[in-house]
Amino acid sequence: MTINHADMVNALAKPGEQIAEEINADDAHLMHMAIGISGEAGELLDAIKKRVIYRKDLDMVNVIEELGDLEFYMEGLRQGLGITREQCLQANIDKLGTRYKNFEYSNEKAQARADKPEGQ
Ligand SMILES: [Mg+2]
Repeated sequence: MTINHADMVNALAKPGEQIAEEINADDAHLMHMAIGISGEAGELLDAIKKRVIYRKDLDMVNVIEELGDLEFYMEGLRQGLGITREQCLQANIDKLGTRYKNFEYSNEKAQARADKPEGQ
């Protein structure tokens, strides 16, 4: 069976009406926060791009603003999920402590990803 890309997308994309029927206020909050994280990450990346690619001075006022914006949305997402920043930081320490024995970086350890089951 062959299908052109536009028809495939039309067939497979979940209809907006169905999403609107199924979504609840909690889901809407999670979506708001997750979209916010992505948007603010893009704004931060743009600030770094201007420094690295365009060779402009780094606008630290903007960087601090975007990092603050990211913190806002990350905290909102954590609250929506009922988890704490401390839980996330500890999970990150645990993961990277497994990946990088003695917390020492190497390219080999980065590639081996000892914290992940094979294939992930
Ligand atoms: Mg921003």
